[in-house]
Amino acid sequence: MRAMVFSEKGELAAQIATILRERYEIDIYTTSDSPLDSYGAKVVFRITGESLYVDNISNFLADRFKEKGYDFIAIGSSVMGREIASILSELLHLEAITEIMKLEEGNQVFITERFFFGGKTVIREESKARIFTFLPGLVDPMPVDSRSSKEEIKIDSPSTVNVVEKIEKPKGSVNLEKADIIVSAGRGIGKKEGLGIIQQLADILHGEVGGSRPVCLDYHWLSEERQVGLSGKRVKPKIYIAVGISGQVQHIAGMRGSKTVIAINKDKNAPIFNECDYGIVGDLYTVIPKLIENLKK
Ligand SMILES: Cc1cc2nc3c(=O)[nH]c(=O)nc-3n(C[C@H](O)[C@H](O)[C@H](O)COP(=O)(O)OP(=O)(O)OC[C@H]3O[C@@H](n4cnc5c(N)ncnc54)[C@H](O)[C@@H]3O)c2cc1C
Repeated sequence: MRAMVFSEKGELAAQIATILRERYEIDIYTTSDSPLDSYGAKVVFRITGESLYVDNISNFLADRFKEKGYDFIAIGSSVMGREIASILSELLHLEAITEIMKLEEGNQVFITERFFFGGKTVIREESKARIFTFLPGLVDPMPVDSRSSKEEIKIDSPSTVNVVEKIEKPKGSVNLEKADIIVSAGRGIGKKEGLGIIQQLADILHGEVGGSRPVCLDYHWLSEERQVGLSGKRVKPKIYIAVGISGQVQHIAGMRGSKTVIAINKDKNAPIFNECDYGIVGDLYTVIPKLIENLKK
């Protein structure tokens, strides 16, 4: 079987290639500049063009899929990747399954695994889907000895996207992956203002502030670049302090590499207490001021 792999993120394309190359012949398509020729693909196609957006990239990929007769499409699960998967599903009349963690072959079907019920369980399903988006961070990219051939493809067809204004994303404000100390806030802080106390604790420890998915993605109390977890950053600080975080698997997946984990949670049965070296059962608004007071001494 032959797979078409697409991601605009080099790292993610390399992860998917690492997962699939043992079982399938793969070609990588990417808009990224990252060198991807050592991840086992037959050909790495670098897509270039004046205005590359989801519509003209999807049109190109759909034509390529038909022309080259690939058996399925594997896409990195990012905002762009998921959008492209849905457009390809419509253009090619093929089912798509997003955010999968595992792909196997059954009898004329694919078997996939993905989180279900908000991450509380994993669903294993058989389907006729031929388009899949893969969660980031499932494996570390592993280079191989051989080299892929490389080709550059320019997309000339204009995008229907009309850019009204470009606003630069504030960047470089945090590099959580490099931080030695991280204080992470969970939904337990209850309100955005609760971040004040988290920041104070981080400052006194010369650390960075991170957060769980609800805090970063759902409530936007913190920027997405501070999200720790399966779909966020994988961090490995010397000290990770989880405040008001229940400890669901998807969060743990991002901080498992931490050397020492301290948890503060008012629920003594919270799963985070199975994952920490030191646990404090209590209300964060009582515990943290006491910690800060003592650290100041
Ligand atoms: C595909 C997928 C990917 C995901 N990726 C991620 C990811 O990358 N990162 C991530 O974090 N999640 C991720 N999630 C979501 C994950 O499943 C959980 O829903 C999320 O981690 C829960 O966040 P939380 O612990 O902040 O909130 P909750 O689970 O609501 O926990 C809040 C905790 O705060 C405690 N608390 C409440 N008030 C206080 C107080 N005053 N003092 C002390 N403790 C208090 C509570 O006892 C509770 O344990 C993902 C889910 C899916 C389906």
